[in-house]
Amino acid sequence: MPYILLTGGAGYIGSHTALELLNAGYQVLSFDNYSNSSTEALNRVEQLSGKSIVKVTGDIRDEAALRQLFSEHQISAVVHFAGLKAVGESTQLPLHYYDNNVAGTVTLCRVMREVGVKKLVFSSSATVYGDAKQVPIPESAPRSATNPYGQSKLMIEYILQDLVQAEPDWGMTLLRYFNPVGAHHSGQIGEDPNGIPNNLMPFISQVAVGKRSSLSVFGNDYPTPDGTGVRDYIHVVDLARGHVKALQYLEQHNGIEAINLGTGVGYSVLDMVKAFSTVNQVAVPYQIAPRRPGDIAVCYAQPDKAKRLLGWQAEHSLDDMVKDSWRWQSQNPDGYKQA
Ligand code: NAD
Ligand code: UDP
Repeated sequence: MPYILLTGGAGYIGSHTALELLNAGYQVLSFDNYSNSSTEALNRVEQLSGKSIVKVTGDIRDEAALRQLFSEHQISAVVHFAGLKAVGESTQLPLHYYDNNVAGTVTLCRVMREVGVKKLVFSSSATVYGDAKQVPIPESAPRSATNPYGQSKLMIEYILQDLVQAEPDWGMTLLRYFNPVGAHHSGQIGEDPNGIPNNLMPFISQVAVGKRSSLSVFGNDYPTPDGTGVRDYIHVVDLARGHVKALQYLEQHNGIEAINLGTGVGYSVLDMVKAFSTVNQVAVPYQIAPRRPGDIAVCYAQPDKAKRLLGWQAEHSLDDMVKDSWRWQSQNPDGYKQA
C-alpha cells in the first residue's frame, strides 16, 4: 500500500493527523527537520496506534532529499504541514519565513510534479482572511495579511491556485484552520511549544500547571460581549479527522478547493479561561493587559463547505477541548522533553 507523506508530521497537528490516518488504515511516512518538534511525538503515535511510521529526517527546501524520499517510497498523496508559524518571530525574521514556508512549498511541489504525485492537502490558516468584515467567515471572503507569516500562507495559496490553473490534473485542498487547541484524549500527544507560548490555550495550561504565574488577557475593550477577543477554537482531533476526509475527497476529485476547518462558534478569551478553570477545577490567575498589536476582535468560521464537500464537521465540545488540554499538560508538564 502506498504511503501518505506528512511533511512536518512530528508537529502538533501532524502527529494527531498521523494517528487518525493510521487508525483509518493508511500508511504514514513523516518527513520533518524537527526544528519545532521531536521524534518522541511519533513514537507515542506508534504506541497509541500499535502501528509503525516511517520517519525520515529532512528539510522541504532540500530538493535532493525530497527526490530521494519519493524514489525510495511509493507515495500517493502529501499532507503538507511543514512550516514556521510564530507571527511575532515572522516580523523579525521575514526572509527565514518566506524561505522556509514559500520556497519550501515551491520545492516540494516541483519534486511532486517531477514524480507525478499530484494530490496535496495544504495547512492554510484563517489568518488569510485578515480582519474580516463579516462573521461567520465564508471561504469566498476577501484575503489579506498583516504579517510575514500570514503573507507566506497567502502567497502559497496563490502559488497552488496558479499551479492547478496551469495543470488541472492536480488535486488540492487548502485547509484553512481556525484556532486548533486540545490534545488526544489519551494525554500522550499534545502541543509542546518552545519557550513562552504565543497562543492562548498553551499559555492558560502553563499557568494552571504553575509554570507561569498569570495570563495576560490582551485587551478588554474590543467590540465583543465581554470586551475580549473572540475566536473559533477547534479540537485538534476534529482537525486531524478533517485531513483524513480531505484525502478521501482527493481520491475522487481534481482541482483546488479552499475549505474552512472550524466549528462556526466563537468564544472569548474570558470564556476560555472560565471553561478551563471550571471544568478542570484549577485556578487560572489573569490580569487585563494592553491589546496585542495586529490582533483582531472577532474571527469564526462559516463551516458549511467542509460538511458539504468532505462530510466533516467538528464534534468535540469546549469542555472536551479544555479537559484534553489539561490532561496533556498535567501529565506532561515539560512536554516531550522529559521523555
Ligand atoms: P508545528 O510547529 O507543531 O509543526 C510544524 C512541523 O514542521 C514541525 O514538526 C517542524 O519541525 C516541521 N518543519 C518546519 N519547517 C520545516 C522544514 N523546512 N522542513 C521540514 N520540516 C519542517 O506546527 P503545527 O501547529 O502542527 O502547524 C502545522 C501547520 O499548520 C503549519 O504549516 C502551520 O502554519 C499551520 N497552521 C497552524 C495553526 C496553529 O494554530 N497551530 C493554525 C493555522 C495553520
Ligand atoms: N490571547 C491573550 N493572551 C495570550 C495569548 C492570546 O489574551 O497570552 C488572546 C489573543 O489576543 C486572541 C486570542 O487570545 O484574542 C487567541 O490568540 P492566539 O494567539 O491563540 O490565536 P490567534 O491570535 O492566532 O487567533
